[in-house]
Amino acid sequence: MSTTERHLNPAETRRLVDMLGKAADKLSGRTIKIMEVCGTHTATAHQEGLHAVLPGNIRLISGPGCPVCVTPGGYIDQAAQLALEENAHITTYGDMVRVPGITISMAEARSKGAAVSVVYTVQDALEMARKNPGQKIVFLGIGFETTTPPSAYAIKTARQEKLDNFLVFSAHKRIIPAMQALLEDPELAIDGFIAPGHVSVIIGSDCYALVSQKYKRPCVVAGFDGQQMLMAMVAILMQLVDREARVENVYGTRVKGEGNIAALEIIDEVFDIADSRWRGLGTIPKSGLELKEEFAAFDARRVFGLAEPEDREPSGCRCGDVIKGIITPLECPLFARRCKPSEPVGACMVSREGSCSVYYQYRKHAKPLSSKG
Ligand code: SF4
Repeated sequence: MSTTERHLNPAETRRLVDMLGKAADKLSGRTIKIMEVCGTHTATAHQEGLHAVLPGNIRLISGPGCPVCVTPGGYIDQAAQLALEENAHITTYGDMVRVPGITISMAEARSKGAAVSVVYTVQDALEMARKNPGQKIVFLGIGFETTTPPSAYAIKTARQEKLDNFLVFSAHKRIIPAMQALLEDPELAIDGFIAPGHVSVIIGSDCYALVSQKYKRPCVVAGFDGQQMLMAMVAILMQLVDREARVENVYGTRVKGEGNIAALEIIDEVFDIADSRWRGLGTIPKSGLELKEEFAAFDARRVFGLAEPEDREPSGCRCGDVIKGIITPLECPLFARRCKPSEPVGACMVSREGSCSVYYQYRKHAKPLSSKG
């Protein structure tokens, strides 16, 4: 508990850990699996030492919340191809450059002469398009509902300014269909979810009613410190003790029931809901966002005639099982041997929010799932 106390109010932390223990006692004989659906939560849980204070029958497992990790390898191959064969200038967030595709990474494409630039926001890519009218600037639109509104705004701006050399290659994803796919996987048997804070600011907490009503699982929205995560876990366990399943929100300072209406409206204005392929999870119905027909001129997929990307892990890599929470990164035979943040074999070792990268950083304290319950 020492790591936790360093970051949090010690008295409040002790109270929450005590409540967690009491609720876990009432569920003794059962192993409870709580999934955090957000890479930032994965990092927080390790930074704040939460795994060390969990009762023996409670497992906190990581889900598909890291945008870089869930983008399939074939998408990266397609982006590299655009840069190498179609003379497109690819713009992307830094993490994506190092993610291995099926055959190539963006860093490798760059070393072969492809134009690949790291941008901090989609607005930087838009500005590049303004300054380089003769070049196709392709922005790699990855991430969940948090990063989608800025992409939508940039696409609208490009249309207003008639910037026909600005394109978005959308791999934007929706989190709820992914949670639904996990709930329908009998191998996983997830007992409750800590819902992601950032995404919930946009989509709101009301939409998780599907999880509690259809699948009868508690779902609690939490912010990004250890105390919030402890509160969420206590709330989930108390619901399980009472045999209830409902949505709770312990991050009410930022997350409203209805979400951010303006952000949701602009997503809806620019994107259509579509099936989408995820790394490790296959194609999930209605889990992606594609540009609407009226924005086709700004859609890299249509302009270059790109098919749905393939998904294949590098040999030996178990990112798919890590993303689904079937194993922890420690159970991948390549972890910390052939696969390290400095030489990542799979996507989950690249981003700071990737489970393998987080476990690598905190590996002295991490435990495999099989060590519990
Ligand atoms: S440790 Fe590396 S190879 Fe193993 S699952 Fe994670 S990213 Fe893939």
